[in-house]
Amino acid sequence: LSERLGGVFDRLTKQGALSEDDVKTALREVRVALLEADVSLPVARDFVKKIQDQATGQAVTKSVTPGQQVVKIVHDALIDVLQGEGEPGALKVDNPPAPILMVGLQGSGKTTTTGKLAKRLKEKDGKRVLMASLDVYRPAAMDQLAVLGAQIGVDTLPIVPGQKPVDIAKRAKQQATMGGYDVYMLDTAGRLHIDEVLMDEVEQVRNVVNPRETLLVVDGLTGQVAVEVAEEFDAKVGISGVVLTRMDGDGRGGAALSMRAVTGKPIKYVGLGEKMDALETFEPERIAGRILGMGDIVALVEKAQETIEAEQAERMMKRFQKGQFNMNDLKMQLEQMLKMGGMEGIMGMMPGMGKMAKQVQEAGFDDSILKRQIALIQSMTKKERANPQLLQASRKKRIAAGAGMEVSDLNKLLKMHRQMADMMKKMGKMGKGGMLKQAMK
Ligand code: GDP
Ligand code: MG
Repeated sequence: LSERLGGVFDRLTKQGALSEDDVKTALREVRVALLEADVSLPVARDFVKKIQDQATGQAVTKSVTPGQQVVKIVHDALIDVLQGEGEPGALKVDNPPAPILMVGLQGSGKTTTTGKLAKRLKEKDGKRVLMASLDVYRPAAMDQLAVLGAQIGVDTLPIVPGQKPVDIAKRAKQQATMGGYDVYMLDTAGRLHIDEVLMDEVEQVRNVVNPRETLLVVDGLTGQVAVEVAEEFDAKVGISGVVLTRMDGDGRGGAALSMRAVTGKPIKYVGLGEKMDALETFEPERIAGRILGMGDIVALVEKAQETIEAEQAERMMKRFQKGQFNMNDLKMQLEQMLKMGGMEGIMGMMPGMGKMAKQVQEAGFDDSILKRQIALIQSMTKKERANPQLLQASRKKRIAAGAGMEVSDLNKLLKMHRQMADMMKKMGKMGKGGMLKQAMK
């Protein structure tokens, strides 16, 4: 609702604007919250600075404080940063067999996540998946993957002792091709810290299989470290996305923000436990709420905005009932329809208007007609819009020509406007307060 009505009521919402001081004061607290959530210092600093410029002068919703308003702005901005392009969680697994390379530090959750993702690909997407462990350093690592595979019913590449990671990768590719697999996942070895040997190894593997996805698995509880790791891996092997693990823990997930801000890579999934189904698609709203840790305030501001919108809708209704339905109102309605690709908008919200909505729809409204009608209104002057009675022949000609249409088109529009205005007036007489109150529920 807020989005639908937002632009429309902008003018009316402004009861005060955020001063530079308001914003500064509130952002001091936000900055602390970000740092406590483990957002890296430079990222927190940049983020706060951006908000400072962006928020100053913005409107404050009635009944909330400037500080609360700033928190809400920060919250929305967090979601913006966290949101990657495209559908979250979507993996490129066309062109079978599609290789997925899993990289990251030791203990970040690579092997576990490989299993979780394989299970998901198998169950949700109906893919045939082959998993292969390239971890030749820890003897138990390959067994660990094999055990997971057996548990979730996903095949693993048979273990051949003494093989180098690159050779295992080649073997996995071959087996995936011959065995008719849709996807093969390569679970690489991690180290405690980034080192050259590890990076070179991953690079070689990458060159051999040319992965469709290279997913970096990082521990969501490690703030700054996670960011450095992401930068290193991205520079050396190039990553296509990130999986944040241990988001079931107490951490506030600031790593997510740092990661997005620094690498720009999408966060695709979050790990929420040790079990094989503890993997979820990344949801920016949820993480934003967690990072900021001010969910109550955000909810409060949202509620206040909704209340104000309802009040404004009521005020608008009252005007309509007095027959004050002008061309600007009509244009707004048309734009709403266009936005929603249908007629469920403002009219749908108001009881009694559903019928009219239906009529309009039956009259064969589609996008191009809406756009043309909006163009006609746009070609009217301010005065004409406020008072359509002014429209005599010469004005009509000018308006139609301005929109590249015929006077007959304009006449149709004017007729529709009159009908709508009438209807609103009638409804107003019928319903009075009762209907209005109902409409606001
Ligand atoms: P790898 O060294 O990167 O392969 O890491 P592992 O997959 O072996 O995981 C290391 C430990 O972290 C294991 O005990 C996993 O069960 C645990 N783990 C992995 N992902 C998660 C997660 O999302 N939440 C929790 N709580 N534990 C996890
Ligand atoms: Mg492992």
